Amino acid sequence: MTGVVVCVLVLTVFTVCPVLPWTMRQVVAAERADRFVQVVAHADDDLLFMSPDLFGAVLGGRVTTTIYLTAGEGPTGWEDDRDPREYAGDRQAGIRAAYAYLAGVRDVWRTRILQLGRLPVRVDTLAASPRIRLVFAGLPDGGDPRADGGRDALQRMWERGACVRRFTGPCPHPCVRREDVVATLRALYDRYRPTVLRTLDPNPQDWHGDHTDHTISAKFAAEAARGMKLKMLAYRGYTMTGWPANLSWQASRLKEAVFQVYRRHDYRAASGWRYAAWLKRMYPIRPEAFGP
Ligand SMILES: [Zn+2]
Repeated sequence: MTGVVVCVLVLTVFTVCPVLPWTMRQVVAAERADRFVQVVAHADDDLLFMSPDLFGAVLGGRVTTTIYLTAGEGPTGWEDDRDPREYAGDRQAGIRAAYAYLAGVRDVWRTRILQLGRLPVRVDTLAASPRIRLVFAGLPDGGDPRADGGRDALQRMWERGACVRRFTGPCPHPCVRREDVVATLRALYDRYRPTVLRTLDPNPQDWHGDHTDHTISAKFAAEAARGMKLKMLAYRGYTMTGWPANLSWQASRLKEAVFQVYRRHDYRAASGWRYAAWLKRMYPIRPEAFGP
């Protein structure tokens, strides 16, 4: 379905604009004239699991769009006193700041809401580098027991046809089903015409080794791309934790520098040994992992 702009907002966020050290830019290979779409579950999955591959398009000024299916609120506000909507907003602010930092421009974005079928999405476009977009679908995080039907909303939508209302979003909230998510992703692909689609691992060997939101987000992304001519790349999520560190010192430093910009906005990511492990690793998966 063709996207219709139902409302336009302008978001202006000014921060001091840090500059990446010149030497760090050299660790990221220049990309060719591809257009990239990433589909992930949470607003740091791209930084943790698809980086530094992700960075080439941003640093090279290519067209790149990252789609975050969930609001990433987790159990915030359920197991502590924080406001979960504020936290979801913090995560969005964090990922915007990280991309602006990587692009070397001010953290100023233009925001609009696209009504794509039954699942509207928020699209933030980096003002000084409008080829960079972040799309937030606002579905409930798998760790949120307040979602319609309880935890694991994405998984229940994928496997059992559950109808679930979004957790965040400025427009009315009808519940949406698997086919609505697929239709919105398909509409976003049609709009942004990726030649390369990056996802998390849709078929981890150890299902319980990764966050189910990661796995299901990859299945949604692949389902929406069915029949389209594009290159699909998948990346291991939590399951890479025990694998050997495989990034160079420089690549790891760059990954850490970008993630630290995000991390200042995410109290749940403030500590944890697994983050240190992920910042030293990136594991792409062979394309056949997508299967039929
Ligand atoms: Zn995640």
